[in-house]
Amino acid sequence: MTDLFSNIEDDRRTSVGKSEVEYKIASSILTKASGFMETYDFTLNPYSGCSFGCTYCYAAFFSRTEEQRKNWGYWIQVKENALQLLMKFRKKPLHDKTIYMSSVTDPYQPIERELKLTRSLLRELADFHQPRLVIQTRSPIVTRDIDLFKQFKVIQVNMTITTDSENVRKVFEPLCPSNASRMKAIKEVNDAGVNTCITMTPLLPIEDAESFAINLKETGIKKFIVQPFHSDRGKFIAGTRDSAMKLIKDMNWTNEKYKEVESILIKHIPEIGIGKEGFKPI
Ligand code: SF4
Repeated sequence: MTDLFSNIEDDRRTSVGKSEVEYKIASSILTKASGFMETYDFTLNPYSGCSFGCTYCYAAFFSRTEEQRKNWGYWIQVKENALQLLMKFRKKPLHDKTIYMSSVTDPYQPIERELKLTRSLLRELADFHQPRLVIQTRSPIVTRDIDLFKQFKVIQVNMTITTDSENVRKVFEPLCPSNASRMKAIKEVNDAGVNTCITMTPLLPIEDAESFAINLKETGIKKFIVQPFHSDRGKFIAGTRDSAMKLIKDMNWTNEKYKEVESILIKHIPEIGIGKEGFKPI
């Protein structure tokens, strides 16, 4: 396979920002959902690795090698046969199956802008399957695919916004898009008539909880999920857990302070979902 594509590979991008890019032939594209996502039928990850590299990202734990775990945020593997794998399901369409896209990568990380791999999968799902789809991202690139979102009967686009503070965001998510650009993007998806949700997962230190809650409400979005930073979660790799935990400690973001902010959010948004319960399929 590699020989067949050798000429193409030569022209392809080998890095994006600080991340190295590899192109891989995947053995599967849909994974039976388990753990935190067990209420879904499948998870769908067009890429492995993620150039957003959030300090607290548990997905690093699922990397295949120690080196990948250590360098989380600085490598991406493109599943170049993802569409071909998905097309095989046309024989047994995924009607009404619940799919979460994505659980261990961001389907709209920067490389997606030029590869349009996620977009090709969405087109296939819309045309041949019509699953019950939830898309999870931290990226404004998501607005590019509003035309396809509108072709699904059941869909929800989740945008993760973990704080109201750019200073905090830069500490925990230095490679991610700004809070303001995420807020603007998800509002645009919502305004286009697509179901949306803002996920504050995990909720990081907040500068002004009252204003944050009011700003969230003013987006016009109807669904929100909040979840604390899990310090005791066994699935974090040691490095990620330690560095993120140190940041949490340095910022004095205690459970009491989290609860204080959570109660202000609940006061303004009584219907807010809490943790895993909030993530249930639509
Ligand atoms: S965007 Fe998601 S998958 Fe990517 S590093 Fe951040 S938490 Fe992990």
